[in-house]
Formats: sequence, C-alpha cells, structure tokens
Amino acid sequence: MAGKVKRKCSFCGRTDGEVALLISGMDGYICNECAEQAVEITKEFLRSTGNKKNADTGKKLPKPKEIKAFLDQYVIGQDDAKRFLAVSVYNHYKRLRQAESADEVEIEKSNIIMVGSTGTGKTLLARTIAKLLDVPFTIVDATVLTEAGYVGEDIESILTRLLQVADYNVEEAEKGIVFIDEIDKIARKSDNPSITRDVSGEGVQQGLLKLLEGSVVNVPPQGGRKHPDQKMIPVNTKNILFICGGAFDGIEKKIAQRLNTHVVGYNAVGNIQKIDKNNMMQYIAPQDLKAFGLIPEIIGRLPVLTYLNPLDRDALRSILTEPKNSIIKQYVKLFEMDKVALTFQSEVFEFIVDKAVEYKLGARGLRSIVETIMMDVMFELPSSADKKEYEVTLDYAKMQLEKANLSRLQSV
Ligand code: ADP
Repeated sequence: MAGKVKRKCSFCGRTDGEVALLISGMDGYICNECAEQAVEITKEFLRSTGNKKNADTGKKLPKPKEIKAFLDQYVIGQDDAKRFLAVSVYNHYKRLRQAESADEVEIEKSNIIMVGSTGTGKTLLARTIAKLLDVPFTIVDATVLTEAGYVGEDIESILTRLLQVADYNVEEAEKGIVFIDEIDKIARKSDNPSITRDVSGEGVQQGLLKLLEGSVVNVPPQGGRKHPDQKMIPVNTKNILFICGGAFDGIEKKIAQRLNTHVVGYNAVGNIQKIDKNNMMQYIAPQDLKAFGLIPEIIGRLPVLTYLNPLDRDALRSILTEPKNSIIKQYVKLFEMDKVALTFQSEVFEFIVDKAVEYKLGARGLRSIVETIMMDVMFELPSSADKKEYEVTLDYAKMQLEKANLSRLQSV
C-alpha cells in the first residue's frame, strides 16, 4: 500500500513535521530555516561583490541645490540651515566615495550643529533629509546620556540605534548619519571648569568627543548599559556624520554680550546699526557655544555652525498650508478617504495663526488648534452618508475653540 508521500525540504531534507513551514516551489520545497539562510547568503554575496546597483558609486549624487529644493517642499524658511545641511550632506557622500578610492587628499568630515528655539524645525529638517538619503539615519536624544558608571545610557548607545537601522550591517552603519537632539542639555552648568565631576555635563561631552572625532567604539548591540558579558560590536565612527541640534535657551544674551564688547572701536557704528535685536541667533559664533558651556574640543569637532530663525506670523501661516504634508493637507486627505471634500474659509487660517501667536504655541501648537476645531466634525461626519462636502467657517472655528477652553492647549 503506497502511503502518502511526505513533503520535505529540498535543501536540508527535513520533513513537514520537523520544521515550522515548508514553502512549495515548482519541483520541490524549502523550509523556513533554509529560506532564512538563503537570504543571509545572498546578502553576504552582494556585500562581498560590492553589489553595483546598491554601491555608493553607482548612485546619482544629489547636488546641494537638489537637496535644498527637496527640503523646501517640507520645511518653511530656514534657508541658511538648509544650505549648510545640503552642502554638508553632499560632502558626506563625496567623502564616502573617496574613502573607497584611496585618494591621497583625505577629506575630513564636517559635523554640524544647529542652534534654534524649540519648535522651529530642527528635527523636521533632520527627518526630511533622512527621507532623501539612502544611508542609515537615526535621531537620538542627548538628555538620556550619562557618563559610564552613572544611571542612564552610555554614550556608545547612540550608535546602537544606528546599528539597528542598518540591520546590524556594521559597514553600512559606519557611513550613516546621526542626529543628536538637545545637545545643549549636556552643557556644563557653570562656565568654570569644575574639579568635581558633573554627571550630565562635561563627562558626557568628553565621551561624545570620542565619537565625533572618529575612533573605533565598542557598541552594545542592544543598547542601554554595558554589562561584562555582553558581546560588543566595534564600530568605526570616522565616516559617520553627526548633526547636533539644540535650543540653547538664553544664548541670545551671550551673543548680545559678545557683540556689545566687540562693537567698541573700529567699525563699531556700522555694526550697531545692522544688528537685528529680534533675531540674535543669526549672529551665533563658536565662542557663544563655549560661553554656554560646551567644551572647546566639542565645538572644534562641530565645525559647521548654523541657526534657525524664530517663526513669525507669516512663517506660521505658511506652515499651516504650504508644506507637501502640511497639517491642512493632511486633514483634506483624511476627509477624502471618507469621500468628503473638505474646505476652509480663508479667514480660518488667519484665526488659527492668531491663536497660536496669542498663546505662544508656536508651530507645534498649530496642530493642536486644528485638532480641537476639527474633533466634532471628525466624530460626526463619517456617519452621515449624504454629506459630500464640508466647509469649516470662521464662526464654527471660533465656537469650537471657545468650547474647548484654549488654556488647555497652552501646556503643549
Ligand atoms: P525642533 O526640533 O526645532 O524643536 P521640530 O522640528 O520638532 O522642532 O518642529 C515641531 C513641528 O512644528 C514640526 O513637526 C512641524 O510640524 C512644525 N514646524 C516647525 N518648524 C517648521 C518649519 N520651518 N516648516 C514647517 N513646519 C515646521
């Protein structure tokens, strides 16, 4: 009596019952484990032969103007920061190519520091750049870092995230870009170097220095704290581009102090007239970062210093509707999915901006205001089948905000 033929993996010979899954092909089967192994072998092969399609040399290099044009679609204003970022990222790519060609003139990397009040678009710029790039990219928060031996995360854990997004491909991670947010939070608390160690300040900066300047760092693969029997992965940071961002609250005072002391004497009158007191950030110089509490070695390793402008009324108004994925466009899309054409009286936009300015909510507040205005409509509308269009009027917007008790939004 012929029994039922047992299906088995054509690669390892194991049967149905011995593996979790058998995938059938034309003349045979492959089990889940062999399939996984095949993927690894393929990856390894492509890596070792320098897969031409994916290798950096085969790709078109986005030019600085193209990078900026891309940023313009998502981020309003901040032209200076965009130009600096575009050039730095472009150079980063060039350096990666050069590293492969063993040229004699070695291009050194230029890590970047962006200074600007909270909510002016630093993280947005970094995220948007990441969309364009095909190198591993990650955002980490400097506030969680502490010196080795203290509660918090070791500096090396910054690279854990990069390794994770690179799928633990060390070679790829070594070409990546890391955005370190809130770098100002690890500033020394006082301008005098202290004899006692300062947990969240200078020690962390010293640790960070090692990463910025380029060295082989042992990275804990799972992040968090190191422990003795954890296997470390060595990562060379020589070609990793670091972009740092921070609000540096109060740095305007330091800038003003410096400008005031410098305007005495030669060419002083001309300088005084040109100073725009409403936007001191644009005059930022490395010595202001030092006065704020960053150690000179760190500043030296962040040679590209740029700033973000505070967002004025016009900028807020543009942010509401102009970016490719602006808040208003997102709502129109949401309604479109319910087959409802959503429109706004143009006065509504002015009103939203007025409220954001009045309550000092900045760009982040725009979303919460729109959210508050739209909540009831979003609740009701999907159930009223006959509605094909909806217009948000100024009266409706006012009524909704009054009802919602605006003061609640202030805690955003
Ligand atoms: P930061 O990192 O400077 O604190 P974010 O980049 O996180 O600020 O900005 C917060 C939010 O505000 C963003 O997600 C975005 O919706 C909006 N926003 C801020 N600045 C801009 C800008 N210049 N253009 C467009 N949107 C902006």
